[in-house]
Amino acid sequence: MKLPKLKRVVLAAPRGFCAGVVRAIEIVNTVLQLLPPPIYVRKEIVHNRFVVERFKQRGVIFVNELDEVPDGATVIFSAHGVSPAVREMARRKNLRVIDATCPLVTKVHLEAIRFAQQGYSIILIGHEGHEEVEGTMGEAPHCIYLVQSVEDVERLQVPNPEKVAYLTQTTLSVDDTAEIVAALKRKFPKIVGPRTDDICYATQNRQNAVKALAKQVDVILVIGSQNSSNSQRLKEVAISNGCPAYLIDGADHIRTEWLIDAESVGVTSGASAPEILVKQVIQRLQELGATEVVEFRLTEERVQFAPPPELRELLEQNPLVDEILPVR
Ligand code: SF4
Repeated sequence: MKLPKLKRVVLAAPRGFCAGVVRAIEIVNTVLQLLPPPIYVRKEIVHNRFVVERFKQRGVIFVNELDEVPDGATVIFSAHGVSPAVREMARRKNLRVIDATCPLVTKVHLEAIRFAQQGYSIILIGHEGHEEVEGTMGEAPHCIYLVQSVEDVERLQVPNPEKVAYLTQTTLSVDDTAEIVAALKRKFPKIVGPRTDDICYATQNRQNAVKALAKQVDVILVIGSQNSSNSQRLKEVAISNGCPAYLIDGADHIRTEWLIDAESVGVTSGASAPEILVKQVIQRLQELGATEVVEFRLTEERVQFAPPPELRELLEQNPLVDEILPVR
C-alpha cells in the first residue's frame, strides 16, 4: 500500500544512542566475551526492548532484584544507577559487580550526597518509580522529597524552608522542569540547585532537535520503548510544539492512519534506541511512498565516557583483549 501524499522523511539529529548507553552496551558486550556465563544484569541495561532481547538471546539473565542472583555470581548494574542499599546487598552476596551506571547519573548521586551532608532538604524533580529516581533517592532517603509537578511543589512541606536544594532526573522535559524549578524558587527563595544542569546533554539535544523538527513536518515518529523516559519526553515535546507524534518500538508499529494526510514525516529516536531501528522505519516509510530522506542536524555530539575501573581491570588482565574486542 502506498500513501498518495507521502513524499519526505526528515531525520532529526542528534538522535539515538547517547554516550551513557553506548558505554553500558559496550560493558555488557565486553563482559559477555571475557567472563564465563551466567552474566546477570540488574534491571534492563537500557530501556529498549530490542537491545534487551538481543542480550537475552546471547545468554544474559535480566533480574529485577539481586535476591534473584546466586551468591558469588557476576552482575552488571544498569545505566540508570542503583541505591547504596543495592550495593550493600551485592557486597553481602559477594557478587562480582560491574557498574554500568551512566557517569551523568552518578553526578546527580554525588550532588545528593553533598547536599545531604550539608544538612539540606533535597527536592528531587523526577518520575515516581523510575529506576534512576529510586537510585538517587536511596542516597539520602531521610531528606529527599520527590516532586513531579507544580502542584506537588505547592503541597510540599519541608522541615526548614530556608535550607532547601533541588536536583532533577537526567531525562526530564527541559521546559516542564523549568516550570517546576520556577515554582520551587517562588516557594523557597533561598533554594540552591546543582552546579551544572542535571538534565543531561543528550536529553537536551534530542529535545531541541525534535522541537525544531516539529515546525518542519506533518507528523513525527519517535523510536523508543514505552518505558524509556527520554523517548516519552520526545513525543511530548513534539506534541506540545504543535506536531502529532507517536512513540513506536520499531517499523512494525507504524499505523498508516497516522500518516494518511502527511506529506512529510519526521523521525527521531530516544537515547537507548539503536540506529538499525531507524533504518527499518525509513525503509517502511519508503515502502509507503516516501521518495526523499534528509537529515536535519541541530548540533554535533562528541561526548564519550571511559569504562568503569572494574572493567578496565578486566581488560588489563586479558592479554588478547585487542584481538577479542577490536573496536572499543
Ligand atoms: Fe547518561 Fe543522559 Fe544517556 Fe541517561 S540519557 S544514559 S543520563 S547520557
